[in-house]
Amino acid sequence: MCGIIGYVGGGNAAEIILGGLKRLEYRGYDSAGAAFLSDGKIQLIKKQGRVEKLAPLLKEIHSRTGIGHTRWATHGVPSDINAHPHCAGGIAVVHNGIIENYAELKAELISGGAKFVSDTDSEVVAHLLLKNYRGDLVFALRETVKLLKGSYALMAICESEQRIAVARHKSPLIIGYGADGNFCASDEPALAGLCNTITILEDGDIAEISEKSVKIFDRFFNPVTRNEEPNLAVSASLGLDGYPHYMLKELNETPLSVEATARAFEGVKERFREELAGVRRVILTGCGTAYHAALIGKRYIECFARIPAECETAGEFRYKNPVIDEHTAVFAVSQSGETADTVEAARLALSLGAKVIAVTNSHRSELTRIATVSVPVAAGPEICVAATKSYTGQIAALYLSAAVLAGEKFYADCAEKIRLIPNLLTLTLESLDMRSLAHVCASSSGVYFLGRDLDYAVALEGSLKLKEISYVAGEGYPSGELKHGTLALIDVNTTSVVIITDEELAGKSGNAVEQVLSRGGKVAVITSLEGVKEKFSGKLPLVVLPKCDKYLSPLLSAVAVQMLAYKAAAVLSREIDKPRNLAKSVTVE
Ligand code: GLU
Repeated sequence: MCGIIGYVGGGNAAEIILGGLKRLEYRGYDSAGAAFLSDGKIQLIKKQGRVEKLAPLLKEIHSRTGIGHTRWATHGVPSDINAHPHCAGGIAVVHNGIIENYAELKAELISGGAKFVSDTDSEVVAHLLLKNYRGDLVFALRETVKLLKGSYALMAICESEQRIAVARHKSPLIIGYGADGNFCASDEPALAGLCNTITILEDGDIAEISEKSVKIFDRFFNPVTRNEEPNLAVSASLGLDGYPHYMLKELNETPLSVEATARAFEGVKERFREELAGVRRVILTGCGTAYHAALIGKRYIECFARIPAECETAGEFRYKNPVIDEHTAVFAVSQSGETADTVEAARLALSLGAKVIAVTNSHRSELTRIATVSVPVAAGPEICVAATKSYTGQIAALYLSAAVLAGEKFYADCAEKIRLIPNLLTLTLESLDMRSLAHVCASSSGVYFLGRDLDYAVALEGSLKLKEISYVAGEGYPSGELKHGTLALIDVNTTSVVIITDEELAGKSGNAVEQVLSRGGKVAVITSLEGVKEKFSGKLPLVVLPKCDKYLSPLLSAVAVQMLAYKAAAVLSREIDKPRNLAKSVTVE
């Protein structure tokens, strides 16, 4: 949520900030802005809307120091005024996070004579910096963060100093070392092509970034050295490669995601086995699509290893005083590894003595750093806000993790089975024709995704994906529950998509199809089963998937429902990669 970038050096700050903001835009895109130091004055440019709107305005800027922001509003509507940076006196600041005690701070500052112009929580930081400024911006930032509650990655500049002061607490922030100046940013992709080495700041760190030097201080303001690491983000891998949308490109990369994840798992398998020896209970947690992957992981762990497993969204888990001891393993699933609720859930689990297993696509994320052991998802950069290939990667990682817990021989068998999946995914992607069903869904008043057991978990994902990118309402529902409520919503204007990939449950799920048809609702079936094909062929739209092991079928049906959502959103001409009101990498709670 929100992307921030800063630069100080000998290059063209406006060009660098603009390029970085474009790469950060997936984190928020309701408004964007930047502040530059130019002839000892702050030049401020900010606009509601996309980063691109800044481009013509930034052409006029001649500066070597600047900070920029692309926003996902938490406090205050998207508008020019609420866009960052926020200024007070000769100081400008950009903020990613939420200042939870902003109302008290604002009231106090106003009573001291401060004039606020925006509705954001972030503006208090600008006024506090001004109040604490005694000729040293880094000192002012140190005094300011002492007063803040909540989460923040902050970057500030000031008219009388040629440097950037930064601080982080629970929001990501990295420093980049370039040949012609230094950088700070929310993530590595923002600095792709700009610098070869980076440092990931730790919670509580404050830093001073100048053209030729970087100084880092810990939360007690002691100078510290943090590791310098290679910047692994490569600009070339972030292009569309001829696809109309990142979502379609990323869907087509699901075979690679599963293959690379399975390969990467080999490297952590032994460590994972050692750490989890003696575990008696498993909890899986995550948010959104990652939570849907966790639901599938729960079933794997129970079915393969017969270890009791529970699954809870991270935002709920955190506040339930969970029963956890040292024999509990908590799988924290997050694409970015920075999802605030998931990271905090992991911290809570660790503090209660549990082992935490990070299942994440970002190997340098906060989640990876704090976890007992990390199971990599090797999906590669995912730009579209709606997750696709990271979800399939997460399922693959959880499948192999559960297999390890079930023993050596079981694992060998599963590793063999998952090797077949990339080809089956390619086959699925080549054969899927969702056009007519996508039109039907796009014109429906509601779309209900139904399934049982693993198919139900995929139904939840199908429904979420369709809502996220097409804005068509609906629900994911267990087929058996239909008659206990949702059936009341079924009429000729609704469509139900029933997923049936489990032979043993096919008959029961078939009943749901009949129940919807009897109420005049439209129905489509996604299946890999011969019997189901025969039963419904010619009677309703069928999406046929390749035959596949029952436990791995979610990988194929996930691609089917995600492709359906993509095509429906395309029919409705939605802005698929950047759906309204959303952003990737949810770093606020
Ligand atoms: N709370 C700030 C705002 O609404 C920053 C939002 C964020 O980082 O997501 O402007």
